[in-house]
Amino acid sequence: MLKGKVAIVTGGTRGIGLAVVKKYLENGASVALTGSRQETVDKALAGLKEYEGRVMGLCPNLCDAKAVAAAFAEVKDRFGSVDILANNAGISARESLYDYTPEAFDKIMDLNLKAVFICSQAAAKIMKEEGGGVIINTSSMVSIYGQPAGCGYPATKFAVNGLTKSLARELAKDQIRVNAVAPGVTRTDMVAALPPEMVERISSTIPLGRVGEPEEVADAFLFLASSMASYVTGEVLSVDGAAMT
Ligand code: NAD
Repeated sequence: MLKGKVAIVTGGTRGIGLAVVKKYLENGASVALTGSRQETVDKALAGLKEYEGRVMGLCPNLCDAKAVAAAFAEVKDRFGSVDILANNAGISARESLYDYTPEAFDKIMDLNLKAVFICSQAAAKIMKEEGGGVIINTSSMVSIYGQPAGCGYPATKFAVNGLTKSLARELAKDQIRVNAVAPGVTRTDMVAALPPEMVERISSTIPLGRVGEPEEVADAFLFLASSMASYVTGEVLSVDGAAMT
């Protein structure tokens, strides 16, 4: 579905991001994955040896516009273009409002929102020159309902939806589609870090009766990146088993 395309996946070292990287590689794309540390990037690449020549790893500071522009230029040099950007890197939060420091709030805003803006800007500049492209952001089911602690996290995801819908309108003239995937509770390290009783409580409220798998979320990233979604832009696609909380 993505033969000959070039994709960048931020936070592609594990979890949903790594599932997206694999899905894109399996479907014929060349992929650049980013991580926060060289060590985790190397570990992810070691597990992708069968795709050698079509996969590369980078670890720019995603909040530094110059570093991101340089990294994306490196991808273009190596693979010839940048057709798809999956903005996936993110952190979660669980602090109560009473304990939430402004520094912690800044940190989550920086990675979950500002980095999405910075990466989208860098990718869109390349895509515009090439005549088009696709940007897919990672939202969350909490972008619809909020959550009862860690208010910074849903705040960033509501904002990601806003960025998605706005950039879809702004970039349509450049043939750049912008969509988001809103996963529900998905089996990754982020979920493993939650207290088991919290995961159980959340799972029991999901109509499909279970948490989602990273591969199921990656399928939505594949659809939105492919020509099957050629008339889909400005959409936030829920992949959450019809979760309501
Ligand atoms: P994860 O913790 O397993 O992976 C996070 C990725 O982000 C890693 O590759 C990591 O290297 C990268 N990252 C973390 N901090 C970084 C930093 N400072 N700079 C650069 N990269 C950094 O997370 P996940 O569960 O796979 O989540 C991926 C995305 O999906 C996030 O945006 C998250 O908000 C969203 N999401 C996850 C769930 C879920 O249940 N797992 C649900 C809804 C949305």
